[in-house]
Amino acid sequence: MKILVINCGSSSLKYQLMDMDGERVLAKGLVERIGLDGSLLTHRINESKIEIKKDIPNHKVAVQLVIDTLLHPEHGALNNLSEIAAVGHRVVHGGEKFARSVVIDEEVMAALRECSELAPLHNPANIIGIEACQALLPGVPQVAVFDTAFHQTMPKQAYIYGLPYEFYEKYGIRRYGFHGTSHKYVARRAARLLGRPLTELKLVTCHLGNGSSITAVKGGVSVDTSLGFGTISGTIMGTRCGDIDPAVIPFLMEKENLTPGEMNDILYKKSGLLGLSGVSSDARDIEAAAAAGNERAQLALEVLAYLTRKYIGAYAAAMGGLDAIVFTAGIGENSDIIRRLVCDGLEFLGAELDEEKNRVRGKEADVSTSASKVRILVIPTNEELMIAQETAELLS
Ligand code: AMP
Repeated sequence: MKILVINCGSSSLKYQLMDMDGERVLAKGLVERIGLDGSLLTHRINESKIEIKKDIPNHKVAVQLVIDTLLHPEHGALNNLSEIAAVGHRVVHGGEKFARSVVIDEEVMAALRECSELAPLHNPANIIGIEACQALLPGVPQVAVFDTAFHQTMPKQAYIYGLPYEFYEKYGIRRYGFHGTSHKYVARRAARLLGRPLTELKLVTCHLGNGSSITAVKGGVSVDTSLGFGTISGTIMGTRCGDIDPAVIPFLMEKENLTPGEMNDILYKKSGLLGLSGVSSDARDIEAAAAAGNERAQLALEVLAYLTRKYIGAYAAAMGGLDAIVFTAGIGENSDIIRRLVCDGLEFLGAELDEEKNRVRGKEADVSTSASKVRILVIPTNEELMIAQETAELLS
């Protein structure tokens, strides 16, 4: 069974064609600068890379180009469009309506539009991608896989904020959580690696990338997570501030005479690793600057690690125990330095990192000492595979 996975952003579209027999990637690619000058499709198949530069004014044209490329006699991966059994779409926000993936129909589309208010930068683009696929692949089932769905199992005490309750009722203000597809994928893989049923495990999954979130996964379901209503709380991220006292916001707005939009820009785009270090939002640059003696870069690394460690401790308490810590996403998979900084001081919980094993990069590995009671795992995330698996599961 072949599944096309689509991840649509406001001016980009990522795709991956997967053969579910053997879970192989047949082809994948990225359309960039949709609706802008210099639009470009980069297509990868086997070991080769093809670039197509042409005018791509909208998402429908982008999807058509992806289809044409997948059908291309030389660098395509399909003989016929009917080989596509279904399309799995990444959708950022499913609100409280979607606790699992769904086959998209008119009712689902209406609900997705309603959720757009909660994710104004993401859901509209996801909807455009779905509409383009519906138009160009009529009759092919389209499935929505939500970033928020995995966290719908959180108990109310974990998702409600201490604000007047009416704001939850009126506007749906609560913790939703994101990166759910990634947390779910690595939790499943962790159970496999540990050779134990997921239903018995207490895990903290640390998705540390340009955007980051930490999740408590108890018995296979999310019971708490560090991102909330927006994609800004928890540990610091590339340019996002992580946890701050909300009192800072009106104070700064008054002092600096900021509009809500300008304040939002500071919190989302000028803070985190970038804001603290003044160097870059990219963890590799920060590590290099810190190694060269830049104190603010070193501080940025330590804040990222400290906040992550605090969440691990808090979530061990929330779950009443801990079997494994999982590191994933760009930083979690690749940075031995940050994994080391996070784990320093977790020995009291029974988590001991093995320096030698921790040198691993981008590969599944157990990086804890053999004596460590809590296992420490590195698991590269694979959101596309998870989306394809969920899509295939729904079809069958
Ligand atoms: P993601 O959003 O998951 O693509 O992750 C992006 C982040 O991963 C960026 O901050 C990168 O600097 C970081 N990253 C990727 N490779 C490495 C590496 N080898 N060492 C440290 N950080 C890395």
